Amino acid sequence: MKLVIIANRIPLTIRGTDPLIFVRSPGGLVSGIDAFIKKANISDWVWIGWVGSRVKKRDLEKIRSTLIQESNCIPIYIPEKLLDKFYNGFSNKTLWPLFHNMPDLATYKQDEWQSYQEVNKLFFRALIDNVEVDKDTYIWIHDYHLMLLPSMVREFYPDAKIGFFLHIPFPPPETFAQLPWKRETLEGLLGADVIGFHTYEYTTNFLRSLSRVLGIEHSMGELVYNSRIIKADTFPMGIDVDKFNVKDDEIEEQVLSIKQVLHYKKIIFSVDRLDYTKGIYNRLLAYEDLLKRREDFRNNVVLILNIVPSREGVEHYQRMKRQIEEKIAEINGYFGSVEWVPILYHYKSLPVNELIAHYRACDVILITPIKDGMNLVAKEFVASRQDLKGVLILSEFAGAAKELGEALIVNPNSIEELSKAIEAALDMPEDEQSFRLKAMQERLRRYDILRWGNDFISSVKEISSKREILK
Ligand code: UDP
Repeated sequence: MKLVIIANRIPLTIRGTDPLIFVRSPGGLVSGIDAFIKKANISDWVWIGWVGSRVKKRDLEKIRSTLIQESNCIPIYIPEKLLDKFYNGFSNKTLWPLFHNMPDLATYKQDEWQSYQEVNKLFFRALIDNVEVDKDTYIWIHDYHLMLLPSMVREFYPDAKIGFFLHIPFPPPETFAQLPWKRETLEGLLGADVIGFHTYEYTTNFLRSLSRVLGIEHSMGELVYNSRIIKADTFPMGIDVDKFNVKDDEIEEQVLSIKQVLHYKKIIFSVDRLDYTKGIYNRLLAYEDLLKRREDFRNNVVLILNIVPSREGVEHYQRMKRQIEEKIAEINGYFGSVEWVPILYHYKSLPVNELIAHYRACDVILITPIKDGMNLVAKEFVASRQDLKGVLILSEFAGAAKELGEALIVNPNSIEELSKAIEAALDMPEDEQSFRLKAMQERLRRYDILRWGNDFISSVKEISSKREILK
């Protein structure tokens, strides 16, 4: 089998062109697919995507040949005039808020929609110009940036095996219906044989939107469109458990050093990209409330708040950053002293070993998104705790909550509930912590990243083979 991955980003991002410097691209999508390719021992694969930073057209040939030869990646050049409207515009100001069910934040601009269409065509051209597609080729398209691509590929290769996976939520039909280009978007997706989602809720939302917008009905997720069988199904993305469950002296030294520097105070850890979907502000309000209510925690607890820079080109994100930083300063200013800073704030991305060290050093991890497709950080934390200690506080609106029911599940809209959950976590007996973590770890092992990828590919195989039935 040959696997063609098409995603907005290739797994490498360019940091410099003279000399050429690449670093790993951030985010769960890239690390998950990368791990799947390795674990499944797939030797014949190629990955098509954008290079992740603005490069000059004249540097592209050098970049292309290096990436193709050394990394199996085919980089896409997106002209400057399309990039902003496609990425910061339609992808992140229209689709992102709408699909996270925050329609008030979505904007609808015709020129951005046009750029989105054009960029999807660029990805299509990169596929047909660079890859020989035959009956053993699986074309796996990822995420909300490329929802028109499946039908473009289908038109060109009617018999291709095509899968699409959405890494963010699919909103309820009333919300989706607000998209002026809803028909085109759904028709774009229907070029795939299989359309995958993280949770049953998103799959159902998609199927209900199909019925409402295009009048297409389904039976057990299967439907017929343009004389083809298509399946919408749920595949909760897992993680590479071994990567986080690793035994590593360097990581253990870092764990010890974090604890020592913080004088063995209780550590609450929080890490996410800067995003309004992540509920960071409410988390701060809850921590503030806790420090007000429980004086005995003052001096004895530290919140390590790590925010990963993201979408710095979108104004809303810049405003939110200021608001969060003001709140941090207010809490530290009010409660802090010479001996104690209540919140240690970092605005950067942590390399994976450091991230694991933080997962292991903390007593509580606080993950409280208002809405989140899956949230891999929650799973990574659980997998990393070989000592079976630590408490996961997880929003009921993260996809991961469906699989991690032993976490302290919270509604992130209630500051009181969050604050009480932190309190309960800090007070939780160790045997209860172990009991909860053990159950979650077993589940993560059963449905890991390999199983996720294999299930998806098997489903594409099965559904595409049914095509013959209708011929
Ligand atoms: N991550 C990282 N360094 C950091 C924070 C996060 O490498 O400082 C990785 C983390 O290991 C996870 C991914 O980024 O795999 C974040 O995925 P998640 O699903 O939690 O959130 P997303 O950013 O995709 O919304």
